Amino acid sequence: MSFNGKHITVAGLGVSGVSAARALAGLGARVTVVDGGEGQALRERAASLEAAGIAVRLGDADTLPEGTGLVVTSPGWKPESPLFAAAAEAGVAVVGDVEIAWQLREEKHPGKAAPWLAVTGTNGKTTTVQMLASILEAAGLRTAAVGNIGTPIIDVVLGEQQYDVLAVELSSYQLHWAPSLRPHSAAVLNLAPDHLDWHGSMAAYAADKGRIYEGNQVACVYNVEDPATERLVMAADVEEGCRAIGFTLGAPGPSMLGVVEGLLVDRAFVPDRHTSAQELAEVSDIKPAAPHNIANALAAAALARAFGVEAAAVREGLRAFRPDAHRIAHVADVDGVAYVDDSKATNTHAAQASLAAYESIVWIAGGLAKGATFDELVAASAKRLRGAVLIGADRALIREALARHAPDVPVVDLERTDTGAMAAAVREAARIAGPGDTVLMAPACASMDMFTNYNKRGEAFAEAVRALAAGRGTDE
Ligand code: ADP
Repeated sequence: MSFNGKHITVAGLGVSGVSAARALAGLGARVTVVDGGEGQALRERAASLEAAGIAVRLGDADTLPEGTGLVVTSPGWKPESPLFAAAAEAGVAVVGDVEIAWQLREEKHPGKAAPWLAVTGTNGKTTTVQMLASILEAAGLRTAAVGNIGTPIIDVVLGEQQYDVLAVELSSYQLHWAPSLRPHSAAVLNLAPDHLDWHGSMAAYAADKGRIYEGNQVACVYNVEDPATERLVMAADVEEGCRAIGFTLGAPGPSMLGVVEGLLVDRAFVPDRHTSAQELAEVSDIKPAAPHNIANALAAAALARAFGVEAAAVREGLRAFRPDAHRIAHVADVDGVAYVDDSKATNTHAAQASLAAYESIVWIAGGLAKGATFDELVAASAKRLRGAVLIGADRALIREALARHAPDVPVVDLERTDTGAMAAAVREAARIAGPGDTVLMAPACASMDMFTNYNKRGEAFAEAVRALAAGRGTDE
């Protein structure tokens, strides 16, 4: 598609909006960026775009600039935003940065566009694309983990660097706005209620996730333990010959990857899937080898195998992989108690996966619940809980769920929300925990009531643990 001379309105002056505006202007489009805000930081950003010949309109995000032929939205904008209604009325299409990147993939390296291996799901996306990129690298392929992570995807596609294949993380928002995307192969890791305020309903959220399978050429990878993901495969329109490939923590059936006696095993990309299987790696090659992370590794392996990667590279890539900070990160052992930071567990589905990874837990939880309920999480995890320390705005919701489903578990309810609150939580947890236990900070909530973001929350936890260890003189 040519953007030359086209009048394009970019919605939102954030990272992806700026990237889209510059890229499109560079291709000869007449770009106007609109943003409802007016603050100092936005004005400075606007000035630098204006210097590059890009028009910026601050303080009005609702009306469509005259002559707009295409709207490019930033991921967070709600589908019911007035700007999109105005676009619909004018018969103007609305797309996101991923759609633009997809349409531009031939621009820089004609005939040599890198195929996309795409990953979505409620939880585990970042981890899985990073594992995938690590495996692809181990196979000697030029690749990068992109999408909802790292460098804006348009910049990657238009960059000098040529890739053999891209590992692309896609959020449900990005999928919603990417109608012509057709990945080589794709995986939906899991589906749990999240962002329903944005999508309007679970059905709409699932439908947007399911778009990742549209037009797949080689493999639609689904989670055998989460049948909703398989239903999305069934509903998708794929290329002739594209296969449905399951991953499971149990023994794999034909056309699946799974686990047998501590080994990751492929019964999909082998010469005869009915009689043969290929060992890919050992569970102990995965760090941390928590169940949900093994699932992530299987999904990454499935996509890599769909792209023709050898078994040995799967093992090598998984061994080389290191998770990002605040994702089940072991901070220290103090007095025989392990302290683990999973600050990234910002919803109940993630926290449940995390709690399933340990046997005897003192759980630090709480924050902003974002409309979630905690009954299922607490009921599923009750037998592993040795105690709980609750922090943050919505801690009463968790306390009530604990009272209903785990009445014998001791609970400390921390009212304070000052900067020392996390240290107090860690001290309380240390009081309850005994040798062999894990103090797990997997809050099941967003952090913004007490912290700038989940990184800061994780750092506060790690600092508190180090202070505790220093006090006892047994840091490791
Ligand atoms: P995302 O990019 O989807 O937010 P991450 O890889 O950053 O996912 O992981 C976020 C959190 O979700 C982790 O800290 C962990 O608690 C949890 N998690 C990771 N993988 C899974 C999974 N497959 N199922 C459930 N929870 C998971």
